[in-house]
Amino acid sequence: MSTPNKAKQTSQQVDIAILGGGSAGITLASKLNNISTLVIEPRTPTERDCSWALWADSSQQQEFAAASKGSWNQWRLIDHSQEIIHSSEYYRYTSLSAADYISACESKLADGVALVRAAAEDIVSIGSGGSFTAGGQHYSAAQLFDSRPAKMADKSLRQHFLGWDIRTKSALQNPQIATLMDFRVDQSRGLHFIYALPFAGNRLLIESTMISTNLEDKDWYRQAILQWLEQQNIEIEETLGEEVGVIPMQAITPQDSSIASIGAASGAVRLSSGYAFSAIQAQIAKLAEGINQGNYLVPVPISPALIRMDKIFNRVLVAQPELGVPIMMATAKALDADGFARFMLGSATLLDWAKVILAMPKIPFLKQVFSS
Ligand SMILES: Cc1cc2nc3c(=O)[nH]c(=O)nc-3n(C[C@H](O)[C@H](O)[C@H](O)COP(=O)(O)OP(=O)(O)OC[C@H]3O[C@@H](n4cnc5c(N)ncnc54)[C@H](O)[C@@H]3O)c2cc1C
Repeated sequence: MSTPNKAKQTSQQVDIAILGGGSAGITLASKLNNISTLVIEPRTPTERDCSWALWADSSQQQEFAAASKGSWNQWRLIDHSQEIIHSSEYYRYTSLSAADYISACESKLADGVALVRAAAEDIVSIGSGGSFTAGGQHYSAAQLFDSRPAKMADKSLRQHFLGWDIRTKSALQNPQIATLMDFRVDQSRGLHFIYALPFAGNRLLIESTMISTNLEDKDWYRQAILQWLEQQNIEIEETLGEEVGVIPMQAITPQDSSIASIGAASGAVRLSSGYAFSAIQAQIAKLAEGINQGNYLVPVPISPALIRMDKIFNRVLVAQPELGVPIMMATAKALDADGFARFMLGSATLLDWAKVILAMPKIPFLKQVFSS
């Protein structure tokens, strides 16, 4: 009888396997010690580069300094009638290179924690663990964590954008102020704003960002960027890159709900703003601490109360899109810089909340509270 020439593949066993080595997955891997761990990620940091921004306090400013592309203690929101400029003593709005952040995490993986540069396939969950293949090798893990991007329903409310990294012909005006939202653009298809971060050396990240249920053709966002640049008398010397993104602003469905999700797939995206980086950092720090004590339960990234508030906010936006700009401007006006940063980070104090609630148009919000 002939022996099959293909040897039976053995399974490599580990304690923990993390599917996806993006923001959440690689951060978790970089915090684990003394536990055999694999992080499975098909793309190199450069292949998946983009900008991740957060309001960083002083310890985060130090922690992320190596990946920082720029940071500002002043930021502004602007519409046709007013410009609100916040100046913070405490936070810097900081834009990170995702590639640099991920590379730094990859380079500090402890002994016993390995990165497999391949996609996980044929995933089977068994209890809290499971098995899968990656790069032709079969693996099994006592504990699986899944950070693969969740599914978003068509026509759900999403934040979608297209941005350019450009070098400008002449020096940028006010490079010390980050433009978070400039609403002086076409508002006919949803809440639309220009986001512009002036980096040193005539370098600008500029994005046309929409919050709506319909994605637009790429040329629509490009046209909005060109129009804004023209209005600001900014001429492009060179376009260095283009970035596109779609971020869920409604409930998402994990790839496999029988596996413990982490990061955006576990609901770490703030539904009213699309920011997730800080919530992911906090979730992963707690999870890593838990694992070191034998507790593998994934912490909830955003409190249920905040999710409820954000859902009401989003329902108002869907029901009355024309209120989007006044609501955002009123929020910025009601809060000082640090309050605004806390609000966006999901750590607003009761006083911050009181100020925002007082500034909101009451009837549209009450209608949505009672329709839930
Ligand atoms: C373009 C963009 C810009 C954003 N900017 C900001 C921002 O400025 N500030 C902010 O707070 N939030 C931002 N977000 C939202 C959020 O912070 C990011 O989406 C963040 O990357 C979420 O981290 P994550 O680890 O959950 O998912 P990801 O970082 O997307 O990681 C998931 C990983 O899974 C990998 N993967 C996919 N399939 C497989 C497979 N079969 N096997 C193994 N791995 C797989 C992917 O390659 C990916 O690297 C942005 C999102 C996007 C899309």
